[in-house]
Amino acid sequence: MYYVDYHIHSVFSNDGFIEIDEACDKAIAEGFAEIAFSDHFDPWAENPDCIDVYDPKAQRAAIETAREKYKGKLKILYAVELGQSQLYPENASKIVQNDYDYVLGAVHSIENDLDLARIKYTSSNFKSYMMTSYKHILEVAKLDLFDCLAHLDYPKRYMALHGLRVKPCDYMDIIEEILKTVIANGKGIEVNCSGLRHRVNETLPNIEILKLYKSLGGEIITVGSDAHRFEHALLYIKDAYEIIKEAGFDYITLFDKRIPKFVKF
Ligand SMILES: [Zn+2]
Ligand SMILES: [Zn+2]
Repeated sequence: MYYVDYHIHSVFSNDGFIEIDEACDKAIAEGFAEIAFSDHFDPWAENPDCIDVYDPKAQRAAIETAREKYKGKLKILYAVELGQSQLYPENASKIVQNDYDYVLGAVHSIENDLDLARIKYTSSNFKSYMMTSYKHILEVAKLDLFDCLAHLDYPKRYMALHGLRVKPCDYMDIIEEILKTVIANGKGIEVNCSGLRHRVNETLPNIEILKLYKSLGGEIITVGSDAHRFEHALLYIKDAYEIIKEAGFDYITLFDKRIPKFVKF
């Protein structure tokens, strides 16, 4: 099996604690073939270029060093997770001029820099926030900035902490529109394993949405742990492969210099 983890936050993310080398050592020890360091470019109104928060050149230099060290043992991708490019498209366009191997498109905050992870969700407001989050994701999907959409239903991870369960059937029209846009534009989606270590206890998105993606003609599918701490790197990736298989795929998508390629399980 060709195992990869395409969503790891190293110390080059403002909230990441993973050293490049320790993640590489772990990946080799666990039989992984590739890992991607997808550090955060997470703009907000006062700092739309993430000055002093994200340094793509320093990240690249560290990855170059690691590539030398782990040559022939592990493929290491230079990647970025673009936050809310629907709100800061020009800043995001500048950052993707770096020679990334892989770019994730994500929505962590919405209008007025409202952070979706920090809202006090209740049974009366969560559906409308979920719908708003999908509308923002749809705007990201329309932009030609990313390769795969990260954690399609991100707020559900935080809603679960308030005992609230998100059912895809309540948002089917917009989910379909997002997936059709992704497919039409030659982009893909990520299966984010972080939900498997959170109370929500399912991948983001879940198998129901993965099956829908497949039935609509979706092909590009990647997998990532979204680890910010060493103990979470690579965690549940192997379970995610099983879920992807169950959804009808018999391969995983890899990226190199932003070109997708498919490898059979
Ligand atoms: Zn994210
Ligand atoms: Zn992330």
